This record gives sequence, C-alpha cells and structure tokens, in this order.
Amino acid sequence: MINFLKEPKLPNKITVGGHDITVTWGKDLKAHDGEAAWGLYGKSDNTIEIADDLKTKQSQVVEVLLHELLHAMIFEGNLQTYLKSKEEHVVDVLAKQMTIMFKQNPDLLKFIGDNLGKS
Ligand SMILES: [Zn+2]
Repeated sequence: MINFLKEPKLPNKITVGGHDITVTWGKDLKAHDGEAAWGLYGKSDNTIEIADDLKTKQSQVVEVLLHELLHAMIFEGNLQTYLKSKEEHVVDVLAKQMTIMFKQNPDLLKFIGDNLGKS
C-alpha cells in the first residue's frame, strides 16, 4: 500500500536538561505494565520511542512527543518523588493542554522561536 500522507519527520535528538534524548519510531510499544503505549521514555538510555502507528496522525504525534518530553523533564527535575502515582495524569493533562494551546495560538511558537533564537 502506498502512503500518500506526508510522514512527520521526528527530531532525531532533543536535549532536556543535561541529556541528549534520541527520538525514534517504534513498533508495538508496551509500557511497564504490558499495556500498549503510544510512546515510551527510557530514562536509563535517554530514548523516546513513538509508536509508528502515529505516522499518519500528526497532531497526536505532537501530543505523544510532548508527553514523553514531560516525563523526561520530571525525571531531570527530580519531581517523581513529589508526583509519585500522579505523574501519568499530570503529564497527560499538560501534554494535551500544550498541544491544544500551540494549535490554537500559532503565533506563540513563532514568538518563542524568535525570542529564544536571540541572545
Ligand atoms: Zn506517560
């Protein structure tokens, strides 16, 4: 089957805190509990995998990538001890809200890019 939709090109590497995280597509991702997952963050090997089923679902790819990056930030900021079992819910809500916010405010990404690009 030919896929006519343009596949999102993942950023190969994203730096969070002091770590370079490698981002790749993955197949049949499973969370620790064995449940199917859209994305996985590996804190020991600094990786993020995104389920390749999402190649045709671009806004979902953004949300899943933000979700995994938030897990990485929580790890970097050593916030797991505060969040404990609430981490998944917090990350879920923030990733969804950020995705919607960036979608509804395209000028915001431009503002961030313009101003962080300047020093
Ligand atoms: Zn998660």
